[in-house]
Amino acid sequence: MNRKYRKTVIAGNWKMNMLASEVKPFIEQLKENMPKTRACDVVLCTPAVMIPTMIKAGKECKVAAGGQDVSKYEKGAYTGEVSASQLADIGAKYCIVGHSERRQYHGEDDMLVNAKAKALLAKGISPIICVGESLEQREMDLTMEYVDYQVKAALNGIDATQLRRCIIAYEPIWAIGTGKTATAEQAQEVCEGIRAVIRKIYGARPARAVSILYGGSMNAKNAYELLAQPDIDGGLIGGASLKPVDFATIIAATNQE
Ligand code: PEP
Repeated sequence: MNRKYRKTVIAGNWKMNMLASEVKPFIEQLKENMPKTRACDVVLCTPAVMIPTMIKAGKECKVAAGGQDVSKYEKGAYTGEVSASQLADIGAKYCIVGHSERRQYHGEDDMLVNAKAKALLAKGISPIICVGESLEQREMDLTMEYVDYQVKAALNGIDATQLRRCIIAYEPIWAIGTGKTATAEQAQEVCEGIRAVIRKIYGARPARAVSILYGGSMNAKNAYELLAQPDIDGGLIGGASLKPVDFATIIAATNQE
């Protein structure tokens, strides 16, 4: 983390878990376990139907609500989709785009991720743009090449002012939901590389100001070490964000120099 230049963000990804009726009890438990002082922004990205409930309950302990996906279209005959205006209208401040589960199960490519990020930015929502390599790519030593490409494609046509609203999440696919975490050194290396790509496109200042999160089996035990890395500005957390005590411990792990 480097709080002098950028925000630290702890974002939970609930995926297709929990019920609206479980939100308030979750937030109450989170609040009980939350550190007294907090050095980060906290977001919970819930299924879209729970966003209003999360916004209401989250006010209790300054937890913002986010979506997990958005349509690239503004409005119209796209059954089942949710638009950026609709997310903004209910008060979502963030939205994940390009999660590997969307890429894998819904065939989303980098062009679509770029279009979705732009749709969100147009409505004032911060996209949390996910990138990350597969195990095969890591073993073939293609990690940085692939992640570079993903970052460039996702940010195509996004200007430096809009970049200030963007968050990048480095999520190696082999670490998501598997219990296998990238080592702090591996995660730092790629996050540093992502910042270098952004520097090449936008210059030193904008690159220094972008928050880059690590995601992939981050938990209450490994968060401190990962967050101690200079280019890791927070976490995108799946499994552990469903457990209020663990999530609060991760939040507390941002309280370090
Ligand atoms: C995720 O879904 O973005 C994620 C990182 O999941 P997990 O923490 O469970 O690996």
